[in-house]
Amino acid sequence: MCWYCWRNRQKWRPPHDHEESAVEEQHRRPAVYQSVSELSPKEPQFTSKTHEDENLIKGAIERNDFLSRVITGDILKDVIAAMYKSDIKANDVIIKEGNTGSHMYVSIRGTFEIKTSRSKNITTFEDVRIFGELAILYDAKRMATIRAVTDATVWVLDAPVYHRILVKYNYKEHDERVDFLIRCDVLRDSGEKMLKMLASALVSEQYPGGKVIIKEGDKGNKFYIVRAGTVTVTKEGQGNLGSFGKGYYFGERALLEETRRQATVTADDPLVECLAISRKLFIEIKDYLKVTPRSSNSMLSNQFNEIQLKDLKIVYTIGEGGFGRVELVMLKENKNQCFALKMMSKYTIVKDNRQQQAINERLQISCDSPFIVKMYKTFRDTRYIFYLMEYCSGGDLWSLLYKNQKNHQFSEKEAKFITGCVLEGLEYLHNKNIIYRDLKPENIMLTATGYFKLTDFGYIKRLAKFEKTFTFAGTVEYVAPEVARKGTYGRAVDYWACGVFIFEMLCGKTPFSSMDYNDAKIFKNILNGIEKIRFPEAVSPPAKDLIKRLCRENPSERIGIEDIKQHRWYEGFDWPKLQKFQMKTPFKNQSKSYRSRRYVPDKSLPPPEDSGWDDGIF
Ligand code: ADP
Ligand code: MG
Repeated sequence: MCWYCWRNRQKWRPPHDHEESAVEEQHRRPAVYQSVSELSPKEPQFTSKTHEDENLIKGAIERNDFLSRVITGDILKDVIAAMYKSDIKANDVIIKEGNTGSHMYVSIRGTFEIKTSRSKNITTFEDVRIFGELAILYDAKRMATIRAVTDATVWVLDAPVYHRILVKYNYKEHDERVDFLIRCDVLRDSGEKMLKMLASALVSEQYPGGKVIIKEGDKGNKFYIVRAGTVTVTKEGQGNLGSFGKGYYFGERALLEETRRQATVTADDPLVECLAISRKLFIEIKDYLKVTPRSSNSMLSNQFNEIQLKDLKIVYTIGEGGFGRVELVMLKENKNQCFALKMMSKYTIVKDNRQQQAINERLQISCDSPFIVKMYKTFRDTRYIFYLMEYCSGGDLWSLLYKNQKNHQFSEKEAKFITGCVLEGLEYLHNKNIIYRDLKPENIMLTATGYFKLTDFGYIKRLAKFEKTFTFAGTVEYVAPEVARKGTYGRAVDYWACGVFIFEMLCGKTPFSSMDYNDAKIFKNILNGIEKIRFPEAVSPPAKDLIKRLCRENPSERIGIEDIKQHRWYEGFDWPKLQKFQMKTPFKNQSKSYRSRRYVPDKSLPPPEDSGWDDGIF
């Protein structure tokens, strides 16, 4: 599939040129995902290398803006060890534009040629460099074709191997944290579950040498474990009590009661890293475990339970996505009753290994919030999975912003209203221990009443408040830095996305986007952080402050939904009024159905798929 079509999520067409202006236009952004499983780690195979080979690979990684920041330390050593050599014949194509890649390469010998369908220029290179690196992050479509001009040699890293290396380090780190915790007296009676949750909730904090971490006599509200470096402990009247290193913990009484610190702990040179947890969070976790909420899986009964596929008639296509289409359908018996019917090709789902995603979307049925598009039921046949949903006649927010809106911007008042609806939807999901992971205007619908609702549950994940996961999922411009690094992450990725979202509503572009839609550049911008981003003059100081508080590098420092609602950007905003649909919407009544674009009817049928993965589910 060509790059432009892919960006625009159109159907495949034979290779063709696109007018430059079309490429410059705003594009709908596909969500991306890595389809490797989250199973327990297997040891990667290591291939032996000379010192020179290792240095060549290391140099190439260090010269790459993005990888140099995500592949470091022990992970770098393992990545180098896991790469294997491959000889390539002159004229062989190594990566092909539009294909889904699963290897990253380092060129070490030969001449290579880069060609893209977007440009007539052909470039060549002969140096040692990384190419195809996005494939190890997620199932990225190749942006260019790279061919060996001469006989050549490359080092190769397989994406699943990289994934396993990361899994190994994440497990290792988690186990190490649990080990630390088990040794603490105050935690001795905590169950295994509590310790595991605490381990995920610990936050790394760094202190330069000489910095006082806790001071004798101060009120204590945090507990610390030394992870690297040493600390010196002193006490009034007793002087220096010694210097302690990795695994030493202090401030533990703060977890149990509000108390004054019994000693002063100072960081030694040059730097100390501690894992810390606040008393507030500690108590929250304890309470959480006591109640162990479990949302019921039972399907809510609804008025449309009896509808069958044969009762529906397709009116026209209202949206197009990665796996198929969204059709406006009506009941044959009652032409006034319309629905949106999302159809996904089972063949494509299986080919791309996205069964879990298709199954996830069903969770939308069990959601009952006025800020989430209602899903009534699902069907299947040999070719498709169908999702029957409430029809939102205002279309999606992306079309509203980029097709209808002057300068592609909303006023702050409009942005507050839209974001208000989004926050209500997200809060509902988080309270059900579901994270959304794909916030963006493309997934937000405008209803006939002028209110907004979330839809598209393809990337949602059940995740309790303190739990972490680490499959790469989301839309590139919206992913949080911890996702871009392929580390573990929790619900704070949705807070980050809220910051990006508010920025996009106010500025008509996302903060970390790159003019040429280069994903590697976007990741680099994300890692550089929000402080490096210049805000347009028109963005008010409170909006700027809120966006910055949401896009904090450290997930535990991002403000949560309750705090966003209290933030001064929302001063005077009547939340109960919004919740009761009594707030006047700045978006006029959308009773006339709004078609953002016309789609050509699709007469082709995907091949049937009958492996049975969907038996008993749809
Ligand atoms: P995908 O998983 O392919 O991204 P979505 O569920 O996001 O699919 O739907 C794709 C597009 O279809 C949306 O961006 C929107 O334009 C349209 N659409 C989806 N659901 C509805 C709905 N309930 N009412 C109206 N339009 C919808
Ligand atoms: Mg979508």
